[in-house]
Amino acid sequence: MQDQTPRLEIKHLRRSFNGRAVVDDVSLRIMPGQVTCLLGPSGCGKSTTLRMIAGVEMQDSGEIWVDGRLICDTVFRIPPERREIGLMFQDFALFPHLSVADNVAFGLKGMSRADKRARVTELLERVDLLRFIDGYPHQLSGGEQQRVALARALAPRPRIMLMDEPFSGLDNRLRDGIRDETLNILKDEDTAVLLVTHEPDEAMRMADEIALMRDGKIVQQGAPYNVYTRPVDRAAVAFFSDAN
Ligand code: ADP
Ligand code: MG
Repeated sequence: MQDQTPRLEIKHLRRSFNGRAVVDDVSLRIMPGQVTCLLGPSGCGKSTTLRMIAGVEMQDSGEIWVDGRLICDTVFRIPPERREIGLMFQDFALFPHLSVADNVAFGLKGMSRADKRARVTELLERVDLLRFIDGYPHQLSGGEQQRVALARALAPRPRIMLMDEPFSGLDNRLRDGIRDETLNILKDEDTAVLLVTHEPDEAMRMADEIALMRDGKIVQQGAPYNVYTRPVDRAAVAFFSDAN
């Protein structure tokens, strides 16, 4: 496994705002099929890290590699729409005026109508919402809308999925179920997942690996059980216990 090429590798990413380092030398590698959670308190720099990988925020220094290919450093930059990255955010809503089918098909370019319909059908089956294919977002519950958003993000077969607190808008009662369903669906795809969350529960439940972030730095990284049972310092203990 050691010599496999990571799907996503970021090296020494840095970003400052107003002279303050918000992302301070962050490095990560994620293999295909792996879910890594970037876990840390609000304001520690998680979303900024994700936005640099997505290409909507520019780093001050550092490199981003996908499948062994440089996609961004300080002089060279592949634009966001060509990075083959799927995005899911808490408030990344569906298009209300488009049908469920058209929402899922949104990112599919250069395909015949029939091929698009086939891919949309396959994905809606996967998220168990085929019955809504010709429905509209307002006819769906929050959890169902989130599953359509997942189908939409997966439709173009992204190499990487970036998810920024995708479940925080959902009702508590539904959240665990939707986390599990989402994980099952993601596990069938050959995609590397970077999931940002401030909730230890969510990271413990979903991650293959946790990268614990604080003040712009990754302070600990490893399997969830190890990070939880062998916290790196008092602040890590406090973070895990305060959140519960
Ligand atoms: P997190 O997602 O972990 O809550 P963010 O990456 O959103 O953290 O933000 C980290 C810090 O960077 C915060 O203090 C935030 O206010 C600041 N920040 C983020 N984006 C900008 C920006 N465009 N301009 C100035 N400050 C920003
Ligand atoms: Mg954030």
